[in-house]
Amino acid sequence: MELEQFDGAATIEKVAALCRRRAFVFPSSDIYGGLGSSFDFGHYGVLLNDNVKAEWRRALIQEREDVVALDSAIILNPQVWVASGHVDTFFDPLVDCRTCKLRFRADKLEDSQCGRKPSKQPGEFKECDLTEPRQFNLMFETTVGPVEDSGSRAYLRPETAQGIFINFKNVLQIARRRPPFGIAQVGKSFRNEITPGNFLFRVREFEQMEMEFFVPPPESEQWYRYWIDQRLGWYLRYGLRRSKLRVREHGPEERSHYSQGTSDIEYEYPIGWSELEGVANRGDFDLTRHTEFSTTKLEYVAPDGERYVPHVIEPAVSLERIIVAMLADAYDEEVVGERERTVLRFHPEIAPVTAAILPLIAKDEGMVSKARGLYEDLRKRHSVEYDDNGAIGRRYRRQDEIGTPWAFTIDEQTLADDTVTVRDRDSLAQERISTGKVRAWLEDALEREWKTPKGE
Ligand code: ATP
Repeated sequence: MELEQFDGAATIEKVAALCRRRAFVFPSSDIYGGLGSSFDFGHYGVLLNDNVKAEWRRALIQEREDVVALDSAIILNPQVWVASGHVDTFFDPLVDCRTCKLRFRADKLEDSQCGRKPSKQPGEFKECDLTEPRQFNLMFETTVGPVEDSGSRAYLRPETAQGIFINFKNVLQIARRRPPFGIAQVGKSFRNEITPGNFLFRVREFEQMEMEFFVPPPESEQWYRYWIDQRLGWYLRYGLRRSKLRVREHGPEERSHYSQGTSDIEYEYPIGWSELEGVANRGDFDLTRHTEFSTTKLEYVAPDGERYVPHVIEPAVSLERIIVAMLADAYDEEVVGERERTVLRFHPEIAPVTAAILPLIAKDEGMVSKARGLYEDLRKRHSVEYDDNGAIGRRYRRQDEIGTPWAFTIDEQTLADDTVTVRDRDSLAQERISTGKVRAWLEDALEREWKTPKGE
């Protein structure tokens, strides 16, 4: 079969349109006119998200002996955010334009468009009239309990990390850990971003995946480098192209005052190179601040009596940024025998559906019963989908668009010799295997190393 590659380049618009068409992501509150930059995940989006979270947990928790899991509350004692510095310093500088009434991040004017003349950035057009920058706190406030006063003010967490620091002592004592060890957590975080946008790239509620790795202070630089390598390796393991990933170390002027080193793992999104994940060497800042504000000593006491405040290395990312990178990397268009197809070339471990089971003729009882039997067997272990709706070519294209790596087709020959056709999403190669061997074949296929046909 002839494959002709043509403009397979993903744009944010194309990816968002496919996500909507195929029930990955819907604009939220759509029937009420939407809510800017809020999204709901549909069936395939949920399956994709669950796979990504599971693979993150596999690499950070299951395959290690030095990291434990945690799931802390979203609303914490507000003192946590005083100690962490978020109440005093978690601000973005904003400017308003008195002409077009739009509001912009003063430090990101070059990424924004003037409300009157979109080809210019705010401040560059003659009618622009920008105010001086003002500070705007990004935390969402709420109240706890029936009385709304300043004493009941609380915050939706803007990061999951603080929930980890305040549990340091619990884990140290009860899980009986000694540095170096880590605590990993996945959960929703909330930021009242002023300029959200680019689909899921910058949203106001997102699922963060953070790990705080506590180390003896002299080892912090070595562990910082180690975690940058580990996290870069994770993206390569799940099929992102090497040429689309880079590590960018922050200069001293860009780093938080407490940070002893920060690197962004950047991905070349359709909007350009941007932060996918941050890896920071936070020193002893967080444990020291929480010790000061809570008066609970957060330190490690070794069996020989030596005591110290561990330093912390933090890899932090959001599920949403990973999903946009994986969708953009997987998105492809090609012409196959004069017909166009759109395909999501996901890594098989990440794909929402691992295999489709397709009876060639939906009305043929023999084929249906064989196909149902295979489907019911495979679904005990795998995410598989049964589809008998429409012409076979259309069914293949539907599976290509949701990124299903393999399809098993049950046809007349199956009834004669009990074999099925396996179709490979990427190469479109077909082979026949016996029905009884499908499960083992699938498990082998999942173990094989996968590389995207889109190149390095
Ligand atoms: P940015 O500079 O892009 O605002 P940040 O440096 O403030 O990000 P961190 O506070 O380091 O981000 O958050 C850690 C990770 O959380 C980021 O690397 C990114 O993956 C993710 N993240 C942060 N803000 C958002 C958001 N509004 N939407 C989606 N993901 C986010």
